[in-house]
Amino acid sequence: MNKLLLVSILLLAFSNIVSAEVYTISGYTTFSDGTPVKKTKITVECSANEYNCTSINDVVTTDLNGKYQIVLDINKSHNGKELSLEILGEYFFHTMELKSQNETQQEPAIQDIQLNQNPPTYPLSFSACCVFLIFSIAFVIAISRTFNRMINPKEEFIIDRIIVICPICNGNLPNHLLIRHLIVEHDIAASDAANISEQATKY
Ligand SMILES: [Zn+2]
Repeated sequence: MNKLLLVSILLLAFSNIVSAEVYTISGYTTFSDGTPVKKTKITVECSANEYNCTSINDVVTTDLNGKYQIVLDINKSHNGKELSLEILGEYFFHTMELKSQNETQQEPAIQDIQLNQNPPTYPLSFSACCVFLIFSIAFVIAISRTFNRMINPKEEFIIDRIIVICPICNGNLPNHLLIRHLIVEHDIAASDAANISEQATKY
């Protein structure tokens, strides 16, 4: 009987040391007016008055709905310890209550956080400004491309319509085809063809 008790005590002690568990806290963070605290860091630590609790030190970020989830590796010794959750300079507290040893899975602790402060008053957040800037640049590029498309075909059209007269055969042909025509039809060297073309375009 004594042996059994001893083994039990040893097992209990052993499981206390070894049995690392996962403790989850989750909830929604809101400003005093109820709007979600989006993409904001929450720093999790043990409260200053708790001893032997330095292993808990984590930073999580709320999502776009203000939801957060803190997943902590803990052991039985953390039962009843008080955690502080710091968000935007405000502190909130959570006491860890571990379920009985028989339960292998700790259920997530739900703690919603409502700040005393109001949401920031500036109308455009930094990210909103970035998005606006990117859209503005994209808009300007799109406009300038459209503008170029409107201008360039016209220019090409005008160039196409400049008809020059070949000084060799007096044939009419588009300006940009003259050099090729001189080289191919009249066996003129490329440099000479360029000169002739230049002369022909002037008149
Ligand atoms: Zn010709």
